[in-house]
Amino acid sequence: MRGRGDRLEALLAERELEGMLVTELTNVRYLTGFTGTNGACVCGPGLRLFLTDFRYTERAAAEVEGWETVTVAKDWLGGIAERLRGQFGFEDDQMSVRTLAKLKEKLGDGAEPVAAGGLVQRLRRVKDEEELAAVAAAAELADEVWRWTLERGLAGRAEREVARAAEARIRELGGDPSFPAIVAAGPNGALPHAEPGEREICRGELVVFDMGAKLDGYCSDGTRTFATGEPGEKAREVYEVVRSAQAAALAAIEAGAKGEAVDAVARRVIEEAGYGERFGHALGHGVGLEVHEEPKLAQRSDDVLEPGEVVTVEPGIYLPGEFGVRIEDLVVVAAGTHRNLSGLPKDLQFVD
Ligand code: ZN
Ligand code: ZN
Repeated sequence: MRGRGDRLEALLAERELEGMLVTELTNVRYLTGFTGTNGACVCGPGLRLFLTDFRYTERAAAEVEGWETVTVAKDWLGGIAERLRGQFGFEDDQMSVRTLAKLKEKLGDGAEPVAAGGLVQRLRRVKDEEELAAVAAAAELADEVWRWTLERGLAGRAEREVARAAEARIRELGGDPSFPAIVAAGPNGALPHAEPGEREICRGELVVFDMGAKLDGYCSDGTRTFATGEPGEKAREVYEVVRSAQAAALAAIEAGAKGEAVDAVARRVIEEAGYGERFGHALGHGVGLEVHEEPKLAQRSDDVLEPGEVVTVEPGIYLPGEFGVRIEDLVVVAAGTHRNLSGLPKDLQFVD
């Protein structure tokens, strides 16, 4: 975690802030290494304070490095307020209006909160080697669970049962699901965020299978669409359109590419095939400590890709009442190229 406080300090200088109060737990974890459920930190020039309560003092001693740990005995907000001076940033995208009001009551003279949400999220976009290794390991674990699932077959099983079994397998292998797995067969596949239900997967259907694992705090995210036997000509055609759109978008992923431009590459392929109206979501998103984070590959995204960012590339076509197709890879942005962390094949896989 060393160095992350320094990078935040540099951003504070740009914003002319004297310090930053970080209360969003994932951001606190990112900066300090703390994985408990009550913690905050205050960062500023020469200041690295991590605050928690007595339940976590021991955990903090084991996890938090490079930050001075302060155990707040009773009045949590008061304990934080005592440490804040001058114009300090706070996470207005996270702190409730009520908490902010209470904090203000406890602040000393001259201390003034300034809305500065999103600063740590900006730092989190670019991953260091250790983070990249954790994401890659999570992606590998998920790939293993897909293979395990496919060996057991899909047809004749309920979507929900397949999803729950895959999640259980992720846990058996030492991870956690990074989100509830989506298994959506036939017409259910046309709902991009379908909840797996009791519906039995039939033969000759397309099955959208979206899953991710979490290892050491870092997430993976990926989707494949499988066929349980011959799905018909239209399904095959749509699958190939999505596959070409995904390949074209991947080829456009490199440092310096605009999120909006990469999205447009995939969208154009789908539009030209006549399915433009049926690709109703963004092309991709960043993945790290959270399964959805910055940057965004989307229409109207201002984000520009940087080396070390981890993003998904996931075009889809959804035909209501018929079927859906989505193919999602997880990639690391690099100079002039990218590294794909998803190991599963992308030609249409037939599964029993
Ligand atoms: Zn995704
Ligand atoms: Zn996904």
